[in-house]
Amino acid sequence: RREVVDAVLRLMRHADDRRRMEVRANADTGEDARRARELGAAGIGLCRTEHMFLGSRRKIVERVILARTPEQRDAGLDELRPLQRADFTEILEAMDGYPVTIRLLDPPLHEFLPDLTDLSVKVAVAEATGSPDQDAAHLLAEVQRLHEQNPMLGMRGVRLGLVVPGLFQLQVRAIAEAAASLLARGLDPRPQIMVPLVAAVQELEAIRDMAEATVAEVAAETGTDLRFPIGTMIELPRAAMTAHAIAEAAEFFSFGTNDLTQTTWGFSRDDVEATFFPAYLERGVFGVSPFESIDADGVGRLVSIAAWEGKETREDLELGVCGEHGGDPDSIHFFESIKLDYVSCSPFRVPVARLEAGRAALVTEGSDSR
Ligand code: PEP
Ligand code: MG
Repeated sequence: RREVVDAVLRLMRHADDRRRMEVRANADTGEDARRARELGAAGIGLCRTEHMFLGSRRKIVERVILARTPEQRDAGLDELRPLQRADFTEILEAMDGYPVTIRLLDPPLHEFLPDLTDLSVKVAVAEATGSPDQDAAHLLAEVQRLHEQNPMLGMRGVRLGLVVPGLFQLQVRAIAEAAASLLARGLDPRPQIMVPLVAAVQELEAIRDMAEATVAEVAAETGTDLRFPIGTMIELPRAAMTAHAIAEAAEFFSFGTNDLTQTTWGFSRDDVEATFFPAYLERGVFGVSPFESIDADGVGRLVSIAAWEGKETREDLELGVCGEHGGDPDSIHFFESIKLDYVSCSPFRVPVARLEAGRAALVTEGSDSR
């Protein structure tokens, strides 16, 4: 058994020596970040901050989104800020000295709204019993206004950040404050701020300007030298096709191949496994789901066009992938062939990704020299 362990460790070392791409992990908690480090992740490629807002905090975000006055909204934001500061401190500390790409909030809006049916019943019951509830009626009207037929194509990611004042800013401030406090303790925090669901460079520019100003504010307040890379997810076909322009405002691209697959194929990532897809696979229409392995002819082409155009605009643009494909062996070979800088996957897939990235580098080297 000892021999097997030694052989595996030798193999990993060999792969790590050959590997060109870095392997990072998708992690949202200090515990996951520590596990990812143990498994050899050289950073966090995707920290999904929406996961931090579940449970009791969901209600606070709901209050921020549905606030009737700026004061109500600010009170909610003030409640969230120390919680977020603690979240980011824990993760940055666990990944000390390594990049941590923190993605600003990206939930579908409905996850933070009260249930429409419950609210309608409440209002109807109040009216029927002769004591109408004005507040509940107002809330119902607002929730009806915001109700979306296609939440995954709606007020998500950067759109939510631009429409709800202060939400993204609170997160950027919490990141900067966390980094400043770790620097004061002699640590080496390396956050990168990532904007989700960008389709147009104007969206990214607006958030980038706000983020830079906020980081500068915290730097002045704390007397610390703070500067973090700001970049974007590329997860919509339009973003991929306008990569030249988007790279003007981004220091890195991270390919979100889950959404990019969904929007390129027009398949709902949440429904496809339950509907027509098993029949497609059974009948041999496809050999493998494009959500499992990169579709090199379609989604992959968008990724490679965007990578190429992005680099044309900005030579030092960092390129990574953080969709599920980042941990899929065949996809890793594809990402090596188009020279991405890193793949990011869930912590338990990190060892396999390290091995496969090593193999992919060898294969590509071989075919390059032929
Ligand atoms: C993606 O779309 O590939 C991605 C990583 O983001 P999420 O899965 O959180 O939508
Ligand atoms: Mg996505």
